[in-house]
Amino acid sequence: LTDESVAPLPVIDDLDTKGFWDAAHRGAVAVRACEACGLVLHPPRGICSRCHSIRTVWRDVAPTATLISWTIVRQSVHPGFPAPYAIVVVALDDEPGVRLVGRITDTPALKVGMAMHATFEAVNEDVCLVQWLPTATSNGLPGTSR
Ligand SMILES: [Zn+2]
Repeated sequence: LTDESVAPLPVIDDLDTKGFWDAAHRGAVAVRACEACGLVLHPPRGICSRCHSIRTVWRDVAPTATLISWTIVRQSVHPGFPAPYAIVVVALDDEPGVRLVGRITDTPALKVGMAMHATFEAVNEDVCLVQWLPTATSNGLPGTSR
């Protein structure tokens, strides 16, 4: 029996992505990388696309990013995600080739290039989502990256 008003949850025990969810659960952002040549494997996978090694590791990265794109959703498409909200795409500061998606409740002021930071949304005891919010600068306003 499922409650359709509840937002769907990610699969957190998938062999390819488990490390990301484990990291989120302890309040960190992690990327999967090849242990042999160091290439970051994103989306995460069990074999290196450069050297074909199957030795991979999960590596913590800074929980900061740059806003690449966003959209505001004004009409609810699922009862678990009441509108309005923003969907953001960010590029990690430590690994700019890695882009992650997040959801921000409400309609924040967003600008491409602005600095973002990860927040960790514990949905239940097991599942923690990584979301992204604008990073406030010393003047209290959202800043731009670099
Ligand atoms: Zn490799």
